[in-house]
Amino acid sequence: MKKLFGTFGVRRVANTELTPEFASKLAASYGSIVKGKVAVGGDTRTTTEMIKHAVISGLLSSGCDVVDLGFLPTPAVQYAVRNYYDGGVIITASHNPPKYNGIKFVDSDGIGTPDDMEIEIEKMFFNDNPDRVSWNEIGEVETNSGLLEEYIENVINRVDGDAIRNAKLKVIVDCGSGAACFTTPFLLRKLGCEVITMNCQPDGFFPGRNPEPTEPNLKELIEVVKATGADLGVAHDGDADRTICIDEEGNFVFGDKSFALVEKYMLKENNGGLIVTTVATSSAIYDIASEYNGEVIATKVGDLIVARELKDKNGLFGGEENGGLIFPDFVYGRDAALSTAKIIEIIAKTGKPLSILIEELPVYYSEKMKIECPDELKQEIMQKIAEETHEFEVDTTDGVKIIKEDGWVIIRPSGTEPIFRCFAEAKTLKEAKKMAEWGISLVSKYLNQ
Ligand code: MG
Repeated sequence: MKKLFGTFGVRRVANTELTPEFASKLAASYGSIVKGKVAVGGDTRTTTEMIKHAVISGLLSSGCDVVDLGFLPTPAVQYAVRNYYDGGVIITASHNPPKYNGIKFVDSDGIGTPDDMEIEIEKMFFNDNPDRVSWNEIGEVETNSGLLEEYIENVINRVDGDAIRNAKLKVIVDCGSGAACFTTPFLLRKLGCEVITMNCQPDGFFPGRNPEPTEPNLKELIEVVKATGADLGVAHDGDADRTICIDEEGNFVFGDKSFALVEKYMLKENNGGLIVTTVATSSAIYDIASEYNGEVIATKVGDLIVARELKDKNGLFGGEENGGLIFPDFVYGRDAALSTAKIIEIIAKTGKPLSILIEELPVYYSEKMKIECPDELKQEIMQKIAEETHEFEVDTTDGVKIIKEDGWVIIRPSGTEPIFRCFAEAKTLKEAKKMAEWGISLVSKYLNQ
């Protein structure tokens, strides 16, 4: 059982829990295993610079050489590591409030470090025995100032630039003062879009909006899209691995819709292919796959698991219902820049507005609910639910997913909180609600026994 690492890295309140001493020792533990050239970069938080220097210090003391990439999106670090370096450290707390920061380690493929490696890092951390090399073996620090430009060029090379330029699209970009400030506006201008920026000055106080791109946090973007008659609004989370779109009518496009849209066009372009997603993803993904010669593998919930499966099975494309899209021939992780370019390419090549493209996708409705449950009861309750529902089609890849004729519900214990989450999907909103409520009722029935 890991004590420090969550689903992707360590995330804490900066400078109270996540101090320079903590960061340096953790980085030295990671460096003791990697023993090579490690890229370090981070998001725009006020504490990123402080933690980055501590991380660099720890890496050098373990004998690693360091490439300081500065402030940039998480996927840009993953891209750099995959192509040039032995490992990487990303200083970010993604979409969390400004007082938080975090440390993510990646392996030489640019994928978040696997469980066994994190357990090894923790062991060294708690035993106070990272490998400290002698004074004459300390590593060196260099920079790579051309990396961001190269990353942007590589995104551009993966889409039809001429088609996008000819479409002359007007795009409102809201980077939330996060790491996308260094990429998305430049990328879209290079692609010939008319770009209007909002919150595109890097600022760790996130003065314009909360770094999580939810509908309530994007109210201003929605208003600006409507007021300017733009073709599209684009927003990112703090470390720019997720893209959320607003259509030309000002509607918030949910992540599962943009995932399905890009899946459809990726499969069309490539005459089919393997799609990897999680068990919590919409049935629309399966419908599209069967229409366009695709195959779907569903994994446990978590972007790292999806990324790893894409690599192992040589998949074409993957993603999650939250709008994190993974293009495995580019970055083994969610990438906001290529997601944005791809969606804009689809609008440009089809000549259809985003609202119509979304309307053309299979329609499902979903409902999320949760119920409190002590951690020690979770396992037993799951088992009882699986037993009770065995007459239905049941998938236990992650939690219990019960598939009925009208829809499905997945009942999962949270890994971080004392709750069960029930996520249901059906052809009507009423049915989805009914399925989610049924899931909740199953948990509460065994909870009260
Ligand atoms: Mg993120």
